[in-house]
Amino acid sequence: MQRTYVMSNSVYRRILKLRNAERILCERCGKEIKPGQKVMAKLSRGKFKYYHKECYESLWLDL
Ligand SMILES: [Zn+2]
Repeated sequence: MQRTYVMSNSVYRRILKLRNAERILCERCGKEIKPGQKVMAKLSRGKFKYYHKECYESLWLDL
């Protein structure tokens, strides 16, 4: 299961709280995902992984 959306401030803060983290890192490039950016959230083994939308698309191009 996966979905694309623009990370809003409220969703951003909710994810940080859930993860008890200070920031969300893209699984592909390792850089921070910030509110206002387009992200891809992918559910894997009960956990969401987050990617920049562009990074996620380039991930598939590599395969
Ligand atoms: Zn990225």
